[in-house]
Amino acid sequence: MIRTIIFVVCAGIIISGVVWLVENPGTMTMAWGDLRVDVELVVAFAGLLVFAATVAILYRLWWSARRVPKAISNSRRSGKRERGYKALTQGMVAVAAGDANEAKRQAQKADTLLGDPPLTMLLSAQAAQLNGDEDAAGRYFNAMLKRPETAFLGLRGLLMQAERDGDTTAALSYAGRAKSLQPKTPWVLTTLFDLQVREGQWQGALKTLDQAIKSKAFKPAEGKRLRAAILLGSSIEAEESGNKTAALSFADKAHKEQPDHLPAIVRRAQLMNEAGKFRSLLNLIKDVWSHSPHPVLAKLYVGGDYAPDALTRVKKLEALRDLNPDHPESRIALVQALIDAKIWGAARTHLETLGLENPPSRICRLMAELEEGENADMDAVRQWLMQAARAAPDPAWICSDCGGAHSVWAPLCSRCDELGTLDWRVPEHTFALAKPESESLPVESPENAMLVDSDEEAPKQELLAPDGTEPTPAAVNSNQPR
Ligand SMILES: [Zn+2]
Repeated sequence: MIRTIIFVVCAGIIISGVVWLVENPGTMTMAWGDLRVDVELVVAFAGLLVFAATVAILYRLWWSARRVPKAISNSRRSGKRERGYKALTQGMVAVAAGDANEAKRQAQKADTLLGDPPLTMLLSAQAAQLNGDEDAAGRYFNAMLKRPETAFLGLRGLLMQAERDGDTTAALSYAGRAKSLQPKTPWVLTTLFDLQVREGQWQGALKTLDQAIKSKAFKPAEGKRLRAAILLGSSIEAEESGNKTAALSFADKAHKEQPDHLPAIVRRAQLMNEAGKFRSLLNLIKDVWSHSPHPVLAKLYVGGDYAPDALTRVKKLEALRDLNPDHPESRIALVQALIDAKIWGAARTHLETLGLENPPSRICRLMAELEEGENADMDAVRQWLMQAARAAPDPAWICSDCGGAHSVWAPLCSRCDELGTLDWRVPEHTFALAKPESESLPVESPENAMLVDSDEEAPKQELLAPDGTEPTPAAVNSNQPR
């Protein structure tokens, strides 16, 4: 529109000029030496216009001719680049489809056409991996480390290679370098965290976990659960190195992180007991018994010099029972104390209250002790012990991920290597069904094979004491009357 207006205005000016010249005729004289030329003004004006137009057209032709080689070159380069990107895309598709030969062919083509190593190195590495050439892939990944724009991708490739090879030390190194390049990337933080946990680097894992929670790689509740497990791992590590003060401090932190976390409570109580902090220990057990009772806590509550005789232990455990009167752990702890104090009637009453129709293993063992102590009835003892072997298993530290049972709590499940998955509960699986009395003890069921001990001993869950201590003679010799 603007161009049209400019054209109309210019044409108007020229036409007006020509009309004016026609109405006001004149002559233009050009003289050079003896030569003299007289030209009408209109003709001179028209000639000038023709001359200007000719010069403009010639200049335009010259300018276009000069650009032709460059345009041809640009066109060729653009076509090459387009074919290069197409090869790159097809190579990526081939990698996704698992077509090793096509991926390799397209990688070479893209490399030739694009001439841009950072762009094609990842495809070349992936194509090499698809062809099973891990050495070549490693060389590409290492080459990528030399360029800032591809270093992170190279580290990721090398990290995955190291993990696949089971080289945790190298994987940790690559993950640490990847974190220094991209400190907020969730997969970097979770991978580094997993490696640190697997290597038992609890302090490093704790730091990485906090960063991962900030980067929202873990939900807050999941983060708290993992944090408690790592703090307990740190506590175990400190105790093993002889630093019991630090061990107790880590257990305190784990308990604060999750106030109803039974592993933290039990560990804290055990360390308090070892440190001689008996007043704090008794207060802790009284505080938690209403929501987190455990046989180890009951044992610690009446251990040491503050419950020197059986009768005192009974009185103390009666008081503890009153804090959580309906929980079986309250009664079981009290029954054991009553049997030790030879108060047979009360012990029997409590056991009957717990239910004797289909009692779990530990109730059967207590009944056997009672029958032996009160009546010396060895037939009854034998029958209870046989029933104990077939009864529902005792609670243990059960992995919520794989179902493996452990006698002692540990940060990692020794069966599946998951962190913080061990909970105190009765295993969900059932043992071999009860058999007639005349038969020998039940054959170990297939499910028993999955029971593992934290120190990799043979499965013996039904023989384990709740705190992982040695089983009672009654349990061990359950097929032999005493
Ligand atoms: Zn497990």
